Amino acid sequence: MKNRATAAKMNNKGALRAEKLLVQSKMKNSYGAPLWSGSWITPTRGAATSAYGRRRYVNGKWWGQHNGADIKAPGGAPVLATNGGRVVLSAYLPALRGNCIVVDHGCNVFSLYMHLSKREVSEGQSVAKGQRIGLVGATGFVTGAHLHWEVRVGWEPVDPNRIVARGLQF
Ligand SMILES: [Zn+2]
Repeated sequence: MKNRATAAKMNNKGALRAEKLLVQSKMKNSYGAPLWSGSWITPTRGAATSAYGRRRYVNGKWWGQHNGADIKAPGGAPVLATNGGRVVLSAYLPALRGNCIVVDHGCNVFSLYMHLSKREVSEGQSVAKGQRIGLVGATGFVTGAHLHWEVRVGWEPVDPNRIVARGLQF
């Protein structure tokens, strides 16, 4: 019954919703000016294993589009802030995200880092581009160690690899 845990998590809609509301609540008051500068960096080294926007199914059921990019990296690999900003969430969210960090880059631009084995920054802390914020892990709803990484403008996801490739112009 290897799918029992997966099914239990999928049925745990209340917990998933509570988790999402918590994350959204931390992304309400973005700093009013850019805290980022220059180009954006990929937060950890490894193969891109699931691209942004890919359609996903879990046990044959629609699970939504992939709102981030996955990087396959061993547990314990360093996770770096993709640009400068301020940590607005650092919490363990067991239903889906596991150990999760959200960085506010100002002007409603956020980066999110999930499934970490360890969080090394706390809410309210400023981080510099390239600063280590945690370690890759397999916490939350995952099948193995990897970094799930998102960039959002407000709540709207954008392709993080596009931001790295093209930068962000306002
Ligand atoms: Zn992912």
